Amino acid sequence: MADCLFCSIVEGKIPAAKVYEDEWCVAFRDIKPQAPLHVLIVPRKHIPTLNDLTADDAELVGRLLLAAQEIARQENVAEAGYRTVFNCNAAAGQMVFHIHLHLLGGRNLGWPPG
Ligand code: AMP
Ligand code: ZN
Repeated sequence: MADCLFCSIVEGKIPAAKVYEDEWCVAFRDIKPQAPLHVLIVPRKHIPTLNDLTADDAELVGRLLLAAQEIARQENVAEAGYRTVFNCNAAAGQMVFHIHLHLLGGRNLGWPPG
C-alpha cells in the first residue's frame, strides 16, 4: 500500500535491521527498542489493524507467532521468557497502521503493562 511505512520496509524501499523473513512476514529490530530484544514481526500483507482481520487471515496470524517462536530461539530468550504484543488503535498506542507483532525480551517485563 502506498504511504505505508511497513509496506515500504517489506518491499525493501526503506532499510531496516532485518532478523528474519519468510513467505508470510518480515521481522526487523524496532528503531526505538523498549527492551534489549525488541523485534517487529510484520506480515507481507497490508492489514491496518487487528480489527481488520478476517477468517482468511487465520493462517497468517499463526505464522506470525511461529516466526516469534523462531526469533526468540535465535536471539536466545526462549528459555528465559519473552512477550508478544499486538497494539490495536489509539487506546493501545498503535502508531503504525499495518499490523505488527512486537517481540520483547532480554529483561524482566512488568505486568500489567503500562
Ligand atoms: P505501534 O505503536 O504498536 O504501532 O508500534 C510501532 C513501532 O514501530 C514502534 O515501537 C516504533 O518504535 C517502531 N518503528 C517506527 N518506525 C520504525 C522504523 N523505521 N524501523 C523500525 N521500527 C520502527
Ligand atoms: Zn502496509
